[in-house]
Amino acid sequence: MISRPPALLRLQCHQRLEFLSSDQKAKLSKHFTDPDKTATAHQLAALLDLNYTLALEILVILEAEKLCQNQLLIYHQCKPNVPVAAIPYGEGFPNLPWSCPACEKEVKNYDELFFDILAKAKDSIEFV
Ligand SMILES: [Zn+2]
Repeated sequence: MISRPPALLRLQCHQRLEFLSSDQKAKLSKHFTDPDKTATAHQLAALLDLNYTLALEILVILEAEKLCQNQLLIYHQCKPNVPVAAIPYGEGFPNLPWSCPACEKEVKNYDELFFDILAKAKDSIEFV
């Protein structure tokens, strides 16, 4: 049997991601050819030494280009390092009061919650 080579999609960065250096594009390409192919905005900000807003912009563009599906990760102060829930990005923030699935507490204030965006790529992406 011959296995199909993994699909590789190319993202032309010159229009919307022109702020990326060639070093940053190489790091992104490497990241999005890993088997896992997921990234949170916080991870990308750290990986690329970018501010959070620009890291978020990359993920929003990837979804707009249909290269990734994004989720809004919800963190509660009961487990600050692990997301307690994930909802499709674009549905907005959860309505309050919100029942935390981890500790079952009724959350009445957004100050108790933290959010991040998780992008999942279906295929490998090369940033050029
Ligand atoms: Zn909780």
